[in-house]
Amino acid sequence: MDADDFEQIRKAVRQLVREEVIPREEEIDLDDRIPEELRGAIADMGLFGYALPEEYGGLGVNMKEDVELAFEFGYTTPAFRSLFGTNNGIAGQVIAKFGSEEQKQRYLPRLAAGELIGSFALTEAEAGSDPAGLRTTARRDGDGWVISGSKRYITNAPLADLFVVFARSDPEERGGRGISSFVVDAKAPGVSLGAKDKKMGQSGAWTSEVFFDEVRVPADALVGEEGRGYSKALTVLSRGRLHIAAMCVGMAQRVLDESVAYAATAKQGGAPIGRFQLVQALIADMHTELVAGRALVRDVAARYDSGEDTSVGPSAAKLFCSEMVGRATDRAVQVHGGLGYLRTTPVERFYRDARLYRLYEGTSEVQRVIIGGGLLRAAGMPRS
Ligand SMILES: Cc1cc2nc3c(=O)[nH]c(=O)nc-3n(C[C@H](O)[C@H](O)[C@H](O)COP(=O)(O)OP(=O)(O)OC[C@H]3O[C@@H](n4cnc5c(N)ncnc54)[C@H](O)[C@@H]3O)c2cc1C
Repeated sequence: MDADDFEQIRKAVRQLVREEVIPREEEIDLDDRIPEELRGAIADMGLFGYALPEEYGGLGVNMKEDVELAFEFGYTTPAFRSLFGTNNGIAGQVIAKFGSEEQKQRYLPRLAAGELIGSFALTEAEAGSDPAGLRTTARRDGDGWVISGSKRYITNAPLADLFVVFARSDPEERGGRGISSFVVDAKAPGVSLGAKDKKMGQSGAWTSEVFFDEVRVPADALVGEEGRGYSKALTVLSRGRLHIAAMCVGMAQRVLDESVAYAATAKQGGAPIGRFQLVQALIADMHTELVAGRALVRDVAARYDSGEDTSVGPSAAKLFCSEMVGRATDRAVQVHGGLGYLRTTPVERFYRDARLYRLYEGTSEVQRVIIGGGLLRAAGMPRS
């Protein structure tokens, strides 16, 4: 896509976010759902497939463009992006990058159109930060496979039409080897869901447990090579980390804008609180860290697209930006005083929403392990 086409899409997304989503943020939070009309608007704009390849009905953005869109998505409730995030990201990318031609044709156009919702089912009870320890199994059965196990915290599971499931297909192998990925129809006999999780924030974005009880899938449910699913998961998670970093920048911009607007008008002792230099300092720190985060994300995205760095950079961006937005939302609550602690004040909601960013798609500790380990291995340190 050329620069002008992309700019039009970015502007249209900005308009949708600011005119259609922001006015409904409180409703989304209280009702814990994205209204149907918004889902329609998201589909009409092609957002269910913005990062899926153009030849399969997506908009085919590269990472430089992806992060610019995420700056816009991040400016409102994360539930908005979450609805179409798994189709474009962790679930859709596995099929787009590693699926057979037949799998791509079968799933990608319908994911891109929003006719199907895909979920990425990797995490288990004792396999979160270390997914290589997963216990879900895939047993060969005639031509096909039988999948058994359970996954937790799976985004969009209650809405999902299909799951990209990671399971151990070779019981003899340990760690990352011997894990395969499968596309599993959510309606297949033996697939069931737990109750919707009650979360601290990000209301309107749904997660739940997913159970696979002897679920039979055909041979062509296997995505890519048998036993190579773990490296696929790592590849798509790395891309997702950079996207999440950009989402954090978008949220930091929003809470900064809310704080500046509030400080310029709310009064104490007859003068706007923005006159107090200690309030200005809160705003200055938010702004400074935000511009650093945005520059970092843009730099890492350019290196991702060129292939120079697809691992350490995305982790560094996710680490910095998710911690940065935590500080930004905390400062925003501080600028708002008591009002910042009350429900229905946007910064109170963002304060809770932001907390997830330091946990999912790899905790901050895991990002540090990836960054430190990656740099040391590049310097020749042997793997343990
Ligand atoms: C709302 C939400 C949505 C999610 N969506 C999805 C989804 O769609 N699909 C999916 O598969 N998963 C999803 N997840 C799972 C998410 O990615 C995991 O929760 C996350 O990776 C952390 O794993 P855990 O919860 O098992 O925590 P643990 O791994 O048990 O971590 C607990 C603590 O131990 C620390 N720790 C663990 N290992 C190390 C280590 N090696 N070094 C240092 N510290 C370490 C962690 O940093 C953390 O502080 C979601 C989670 C949430 C909450």
